[in-house]
Amino acid sequence: MMNQDLSTRARASLPGGVSHELRYRDPYPVFIDRAQGGEKWDVEGRRYIDFKMGSASQMLGHCHPAIVEAIQKQAERSVFSADCHTREIEWAEWVNRLYPSADRTRFTASGTESTMLALRLGRAYSGKDHVLRVEGHFHGWHDHALKGAKPGSDQVPSLGIPDAINDLIHICAADPQAMESALQDDRIGTVIIEASGANYGCVPLATDTLRALHDVVRAAGVVLIFDEIITGFRWSPGGRQARDGIVPDLTTLAKVVTGGLPGGAICGRADIMELLNNATVRNGFGPAVSHKGTFNGSPLIAAAACAAMPLLANGEAQAQADAMAERMRDGMNAAMKRQGVAGIAYGDSSIFHVFFGRDRLDGLGPAEIRGLPKPLVKAYRDGMLSRGVDMMAYTSGLTSSAHTPELIDEALLAFDDTLSEMIR
Ligand code: PLP
Repeated sequence: MMNQDLSTRARASLPGGVSHELRYRDPYPVFIDRAQGGEKWDVEGRRYIDFKMGSASQMLGHCHPAIVEAIQKQAERSVFSADCHTREIEWAEWVNRLYPSADRTRFTASGTESTMLALRLGRAYSGKDHVLRVEGHFHGWHDHALKGAKPGSDQVPSLGIPDAINDLIHICAADPQAMESALQDDRIGTVIIEASGANYGCVPLATDTLRALHDVVRAAGVVLIFDEIITGFRWSPGGRQARDGIVPDLTTLAKVVTGGLPGGAICGRADIMELLNNATVRNGFGPAVSHKGTFNGSPLIAAAACAAMPLLANGEAQAQADAMAERMRDGMNAAMKRQGVAGIAYGDSSIFHVFFGRDRLDGLGPAEIRGLPKPLVKAYRDGMLSRGVDMMAYTSGLTSSAHTPELIDEALLAFDDTLSEMIR
């Protein structure tokens, strides 16, 4: 079976031939057949070094034996029964132990559902409908998350979202003064921040700046949500908040929290999270904040998550992944220098980005950092892919604890080669 043939077939049954708009690729995407560790193979048998890693979900590498075994064992007992079970307690206890902001945890079915629920809780607790978000930060695809998601624009990048909802969403720069002045509007009761900075840190958010943003929100008495869907269990076992000691009221999680399976979580302060408790009542109904979802906390996912947690809790997996991303960044910077290409490879933790055209990001805003010409980005991504290296999105990639120095050095050869082709 060839990738091109599958794409033709897919486009007749799936809009664009895909299930997620970022999987679309011209002329056609590769169709992956299997994956192991830091590698994957397509239906034509071609091997790729993977820096997408399940959109950042496979922190322990593809098909980690402990996770595969946990899924197999659980599938034999019960795939799903929509009942309470012991694994969800164990799983929540792990999250509550590792996350400084977590007194209670509630499981959801995706990261998007986590930010949707966090905003609902923020609004319920504050009694205010208006939300402040940071320019370019990504929080999923629900109606309240899209305005402001594109850096440099307050346009809503989708039809179908009512103006009445967009009118409730305010946008400010990742700058404490800008946030302070936006919070003068006392209709705002909730602030949401992508803990890495926009797009998994493509637009970096310095620790001092995050701390200052936190302090401004605290001073305004507004509910603060950290979206740690990327940084959670990756920047440290307790995410960015534990690593840098900056604690929000609510935290959204997905990707790694589930052991890399579909799902998500939200955790936070007891007095806010307890609004989800059936014992609370509003207008004669309980709980005060409604949250349902057939597959929340499913035993299959809980089993994978509980297998992953001990492997993520001591920081060794993160240290290995971080070291591999650093090796990648160092090697990319050395290659650009060697070839006389202006550019910079940068990033935090187990994430690496590359910006072409300048060797410093200083003075560039989010729209400029995310604004590399599309043909350049495509040439880079296609060049890497044709040499057997798959990236996450834009010019970014992520490592896992399964990436080895040998894989990184092989990927660096592909980078070197791609660069020469791009400047030829
Ligand atoms: N928030 C952040 C920071 C993300 O990176 C993502 C997904 O990439 C989401 C929210 C949405 O999560 P999901 O794709 O599971 O809906």
